[in-house]
Amino acid sequence: MKSSVKAGTEQHRSRYQELKRMLEDRRRELQAEVQGKIRDVRAEGTWGGKVNEVLDAVESSEVDIQDEIEFALIQMKSETLNKVYDALGRLEQGDYGNCFECGEEIAEKRLRALPFAVRCKDCEEAREVAEQRQRQLAARRGTASLFLDM
Ligand SMILES: [Zn+2]
Repeated sequence: MKSSVKAGTEQHRSRYQELKRMLEDRRRELQAEVQGKIRDVRAEGTWGGKVNEVLDAVESSEVDIQDEIEFALIQMKSETLNKVYDALGRLEQGDYGNCFECGEEIAEKRLRALPFAVRCKDCEEAREVAEQRQRQLAARRGTASLFLDM
């Protein structure tokens, strides 16, 4: 039986492993932060498990505004954590790290900086330019239709 492993597959595999390691590092980091913060808050006993009570209390004291900020931070971090899980799932399906527009692999360097990037640098830049142009067109149309409606 002939081996079906090609050079390209090897390359692909190491990219997969690199990306997986990158995402898992991030996941561990976020998990530790989220769990650490929840522990801190629980230890202080200020939340009592009821967010609404905290939100009511926020209006009456400055100390609780700190809790509110902490709460927002935890929420933000757990949302990021969900995205990391999502990315890991897509990586397993071979659906992560490729450009949404052109299908090319997104550079590993870019994914390290922006793990949830869905476009390669070129497509992202092209999109920004296109969006800018569209905004300009829309602004012009907006002005024009103001006159037309009159
Ligand atoms: Zn692209």
